[in-house]
Formats: sequence, C-alpha cells, structure tokens
Amino acid sequence: MNDIVNVIGAGLAGCEAAWAVAEAGIRVRLYEMKPEKYSPAHKYSGFAELVCSNSLKAARLESAAGLLKYEMELLGSLTVPCAKENSVEAGGALAVDREKFSDAVTAKIKSHPLIEVIGGEVTELPEGMTIIATGPLTQGAMADIIRGLCGEGLSFYDAAAPIVTADTINMERAFYASRYDRGDADYVNCPMNKEEYLAFHEALINAEKVQLKDFETHPFSVYEGCMPIEELASRGVDTMRFGPMKPVGIDDPRTGRRPYAVVQLRKENREGTLFNLVGFQTNLKFGEQKRVFSMIPGLENAEFMRYGVMHRNTFINSPELLNSDFSMRSRPEIFFAGQITGVEGYMESAASGLIAGIAASRRLKGLEPVKLPPDTMTGALSHYVSDPFNSGNFQPMGANMGILPDIGVRIKDKKERYGAYAQRAVNSLRGELERIGGKCNS
Ligand SMILES: Cc1cc2nc3c(=O)[nH]c(=O)nc-3n(C[C@H](O)[C@H](O)[C@H](O)COP(=O)(O)OP(=O)(O)OC[C@H]3O[C@@H](n4cnc5c(N)ncnc54)[C@H](O)[C@@H]3O)c2cc1C
Repeated sequence: MNDIVNVIGAGLAGCEAAWAVAEAGIRVRLYEMKPEKYSPAHKYSGFAELVCSNSLKAARLESAAGLLKYEMELLGSLTVPCAKENSVEAGGALAVDREKFSDAVTAKIKSHPLIEVIGGEVTELPEGMTIIATGPLTQGAMADIIRGLCGEGLSFYDAAAPIVTADTINMERAFYASRYDRGDADYVNCPMNKEEYLAFHEALINAEKVQLKDFETHPFSVYEGCMPIEELASRGVDTMRFGPMKPVGIDDPRTGRRPYAVVQLRKENREGTLFNLVGFQTNLKFGEQKRVFSMIPGLENAEFMRYGVMHRNTFINSPELLNSDFSMRSRPEIFFAGQITGVEGYMESAASGLIAGIAASRRLKGLEPVKLPPDTMTGALSHYVSDPFNSGNFQPMGANMGILPDIGVRIKDKKERYGAYAQRAVNSLRGELERIGGKCNS
C-alpha cells in the first residue's frame, strides 16, 4: 500500500496532484465520480472541468495570476502547458477552449502508465496516503468523511468581505484606534460624516448584485450573522450605524469627536499587508464594490485584492488543520488540495494539488521536502492557508500581490512594482529548485 497514493477527485487540483505523484515514479489511484454522478455545477465528462469562466486570468509575469502560472510551470505543472496548447484569444489573459483543455488533461492522465483511474463516487476513505481534492461542492458521504476528519472546521458558504492593501489606504483620512481604546490600536478606522454616510447608504442599496445560481441556497437563511452589507442597508437607513458601522467608542483624533459612522478595517494577515472591511461581506458585483466602497473616506484609491463574495463553497479551516504542504497536522498521511483548502480560483486550486502531490511523493521517496519560499506566489498561498494566525474567520484567498512580503523599497509605478515582486519570486523559486537538485519530482 505504501507505494501508492490515492487521489480523490479529478478536478484541477486532483489532476495536478495525480500527475505530480506519477511523474515522480509513484503509482496513483485517481478516483472520479463523473460521468456516473455530477455535482450541480459540473456538466462535462472530462477531467479538470472549468465550471464557469474559461479564463485562467492574466498571462503576464508581472501580475499575481501570471506569476502563479509561471511558478507552477517551474514546479512541473500539467494544467498550465495544457492550457497554453488550447488557448483562445483573450487579450492579456490565458483563456482556453474548455472542452479541448479538459480533453488534453484527461488524455495525459489516462495515458500515464502509473495512473489508474477508478470510476464512481468515493464514500469511504481509501487506506494509505490520500489526497482529497473533491472540490467546493463536495457533498454526501464525502462531506461526512471530511467533517469526521476536520470536526467543526468545515464551512459551506463563503461570506467574505473585500480586502485592500494596507499601503493604498489613505491614512490622512483614516486612523488607527480600537473601540474605547481597549487593547492595541489594531483597527484602521474610516470615519464618515452624516452627508457621506447618507450618500454611501444610497449608493449601496441601489448597487447591482450578483445573481446566485439555483443550487446556491442563500446563506442568510442559514447565518443571520453573515448578512450582506447591502441587505443590512436595505433594512433601514440607520441599521448599519447600529451594526458594522457603529461609531461608539471611536473618536476621530483629528476632530476629537465621535464620527457619524465608521468603517473598520482589520488585519487580514500576520504581516499586515492586507486589511479586510469588517462586517462588509457582500453580494455586489465586483465593479460595483469598487465604485461604492471607494466612496468610504480613506479608501478613495484603495487597491482591492479580493472582492467580497457570498456563495456556496465547501472549505475547511485549513489554518487550524493543515501544514504548508497541505497535509493534515493530525493525520500527516492525508492531504487536502484544491478550493476546499481555502485557496480561491482555478489555478490556485491546481497549484495546491501540485504542491500536495510533490510533497506526498517526496515523502514516500524519503526525499527532503521542497520549501516554497514565502516570497513566491505558491509559497505565500501555502503560508496563508496554513498560518494559525488566519484561523479566526478564515476566508478563501486567491493569488494576489498583497500576500507577498513587502519588498522593502517604495516603487510608485504599479507595473514596475509588480515586476520587482515577480522577479524576486522567480529568483527565490529557482534558488530552491537548485538547492533540491533542479526538479521536484526527480
Ligand atoms: C459555481 C462555481 C463557479 C466557479 N467559477 C470560477 C471561475 O469562473 N473562475 C475561477 O477561477 N474559479 C471559479 N470557481 C472556484 C474554483 O476555481 C473551482 O471550483 C475549481 O474547479 C476548483 O477546483 P478543485 O479541483 O478544487 O475542484 P473541482 O474542479 O470541483 O473538482 C472536484 C472533482 O472531484 C469530483 N468528486 C467530488 N466528490 C467526489 C467523490 N465523492 N468521489 C469521486 N469524485 C468526486 C468531482 O466530480 C470533480 O471532478 C468556481 C466555483 C464554483 C462552485
């Protein structure tokens, strides 16, 4: 049993994981329930199905999504080359013909001599080293198995508030303070006067919302505490002022007085490079979030690294459960990979599968682990999902430049700044690959 790795789910993460293990010379049993059974979002019989958009986001290296794909290729990705071979014109993005892309990945997997594909729904955990990659719509017996492994650390909905980068908050308007000056002044506060508040309220209740899919039972019937901010606003003009925007106990140091309303921002990561808008989980369209939330004093020019979302999404509380190689702390022979770990997005899911597959195979072969440097996109994502600091209200995170450690020099031009972050990441990853002898799966 020791020379086999089980991978459950042949989505983006599962295919990458299976490929990484097999390319390392270890046998894989890849379990996939399609075409016998489909989740509510899956329709195509092939593997690595893109359930919604056909875009894998920006292609250029000096972007978070481009850097992630570049690093994945360095690490031996299956999906990135398949995507490039089946790309369609999409400006600066890497978009694919989704069926051709899925067919290409499926053909590679099925023709690999070390991968055995096993059809049907998995309802019991196989014995031995296992990578669980059943995706954000995991249900039934598999969800029960995961609940058994993770206890309370399993969520069924995203209720994520937008996140902005710390260095784009205008601190001439915003200020640090904690309510009633209790504890450290950890919150960034954006004060509003009455006129600003009323204009903000008006914009919020009239902004365009995302239409949820049929299978996405609305979360607020489940968690009243996770109500979208626009829903709260629609209950009455002052409702937000008695909820997440309440100003009590917060005096603006510039006026010495309590503002009419306050938006509070809390640190999203240990490094303090990202802040989330407390209580601002939302279903507004992304463009509308940018327009309306930029009306908040202090956020006029804020860079949004993640927009708020509220949709069905099964994910585990990884910071409490996982190591940075995506194995469980309590059961190191079990790995999780994909969106279910709290990475967000097609390529992020695939990347986590690649990292888990590399880690599993190296462990079986008695090789030392790959230490993904924290200033790489793959390293920063693994760090984000496994850092206990993030376990409080853990919400999924996609690749973004805000999760990389500060570069230490101020580069005003965004393109140049991102280019510097990308170059640093590539150098670091190349350094690590050199250290381990050139390849992860040798
Ligand atoms: C509706 C929806 C739309 C999304 N749209 C986008 C988007 O446009 N862009 C983006 O970047 N991200 C999007 N995402 C987020 C995320 O990128 C995708 O969900 C992505 O497919 C996750 O990859 P994965 O490998 O983790 O899971 P999946 O791709 O879902 O793969 C899981 C696989 O496991 C199989 N499986 C599940 N349970 C079992 C079982 N018990 N036994 C055997 N097999 C099983 C499934 O059939 C499936 O093939 C979306 C998510 C959802 C739910």
